[in-house]
Amino acid sequence: LTLDVQATQLAGTPPAGVVLVLHDISELKRLEGLRQQFVANVSHELKTPLSSIKAYTETLLNGALEDTEHARQFLTRIDDQTSRLHELILDLLSIARIESGQATLEVTNLLLSKVVRTCLDDFEERSKAGGITLKNQVAEQQLRVQADEESLVQILSNLIDNAIKYTPAGGTVTVSSHTEGEIAVIEVTDTGIGIESEHHERLFERFYRVDKARSRELGGTGLGLAIVKHLCQAMQGSISVKSTPGQGSTFAVRLRLA
Ligand code: ADP
Repeated sequence: LTLDVQATQLAGTPPAGVVLVLHDISELKRLEGLRQQFVANVSHELKTPLSSIKAYTETLLNGALEDTEHARQFLTRIDDQTSRLHELILDLLSIARIESGQATLEVTNLLLSKVVRTCLDDFEERSKAGGITLKNQVAEQQLRVQADEESLVQILSNLIDNAIKYTPAGGTVTVSSHTEGEIAVIEVTDTGIGIESEHHERLFERFYRVDKARSRELGGTGLGLAIVKHLCQAMQGSISVKSTPGQGSTFAVRLRLA
């Protein structure tokens, strides 16, 4: 808290009054703290893949290049780390665009089943390779929602991507929908590892991960759910989660019906 005290006094007369101005700077301090933490997180996330790219490159330059088999292995790792950096930068740009209000959303009346089908088709191969069954239960309902198509695709893709990532082989990922009054509820449900309730509130924060090592290994940037939350809010919608550890999770997106 800062305090300004001003006494007003005309020459030769007693003070006419005292003005106390109280500034509550706790919110400013909190925002500054969040900004500093974000910069520290971004730097760390960029540094990790860059350090390994540098290490592999140096090993190659120091002679490993002559050993074709090892050279190929190292180049594959460099390629993986470069993809990781690329993904991280694309996610950071998405967040920056949405937060600065520069993202132009074109909200129209979209046929939900069509958007869901497009998203699920994109994950067909990956889910098969991971032994996961994808189920689409949106087809029958001819729901139309008020949404920007690109944003809705990004929201559903991030949720389906996570559902596949955090579900062991043999599991199922289902996309379903229903209505609540004027609202369409789109749910992505998995039979995966689930999330303890103490984490639910913080999942949508930038770089928040339940298990850092596991998520990094699975290739996440830690920004997916933060982007989902921003995009839902930008379309006057919302996102929520229900989950039971060891049984699975359901992420529910709420959007206005057309
Ligand atoms: P990441 O890129 O690490 O997956 P996200 O922002 O998409 O980042 O998700 C944040 C964290 O939430 C993840 O690291 C993971 O711990 C948890 N999470 C997200 N979706 C699921 C899910 N379907 N099942 C279990 N945990 C999940």
